[in-house]
This record gives sequence, structure tokens and C-alpha cells, in this order.
Amino acid sequence: MIDPYFFCELCETKHSLVDVVDCKHGEDQLAWDNYNEFNKCPACSGSHFYRQKDFNRLLGCGIIIFGILLVPITYGISLAIVALVDWFLYNRVPDTIACYKCKGEFFGINSIPKNITSFDHHIAELYEEPS
Ligand SMILES: [Zn+2]
Ligand SMILES: [Zn+2]
Repeated sequence: MIDPYFFCELCETKHSLVDVVDCKHGEDQLAWDNYNEFNKCPACSGSHFYRQKDFNRLLGCGIIIFGILLVPITYGISLAIVALVDWFLYNRVPDTIACYKCKGEFFGINSIPKNITSFDHHIAELYEEPS
């Protein structure tokens, strides 16, 4: 298990969540201490988060293509195997939590609140810069 940290897009650096956080944009240590409640983003004060897989989709596609290429040799068994490998990898990868507003990401979070769901572009629109 990795120690929880926050990849801060505003500072473009990792903030370890184990010690006092030295963030130029979010100086409220109390917010950092309570980060795991996910009420408020400690870096930007945003209040919406989403969960996502820290999974390299490109790698997943590569595995599937590899399986397809081997179909003529393996009579299709390779496809079943790569699907299994892909599923296995996907499920081993832990969820991360990202902030809609600053796009900062929390890694190494053990318990993710149930009310945090996957990316919703309706919520994302709230935070979009008016063009
Ligand atoms: Zn920061
Ligand atoms: Zn944020």
C-alpha cells in the first residue's frame, strides 16, 4: 500500500498527505487534515470529486490487440486469455479520486466515500471556464 498523496495540478507537484502539506494554493492545514472526508478540495476549495481508475487504457488495448493477432494460431483461446488478463489488471488497479475544479488527484486512498461516483460531465461543466 502506498502512502496517500495528492498530485497537485496547481503546484505541479506531489503533496504527501502524511505530513504537513506545503501547498502554495491551499494553505489551510485543517482542510488537508480532513482531506479524506472529501467535502472540500484542500488545494482549490472545490467541492466536487470523482473516482477513476489509475489504469493505462493504452496498455489494456495493446493486450487485446495482441490477443487478436494470436487468434489464427490459438483458435481464439488467446482472446479469452487476454480478456482475462485485462480484467485482472483492471481490478487490481486502485481507484483514485480527482477534483473537478483543479484536476488534482488523490492516490493511495483506502476507503473512498460511496457518494463519490465516476466522472460526470454535467458536474464538470460547472467548473468549466466560461469561453
Ligand atoms: Zn499544491
Ligand atoms: Zn481541487
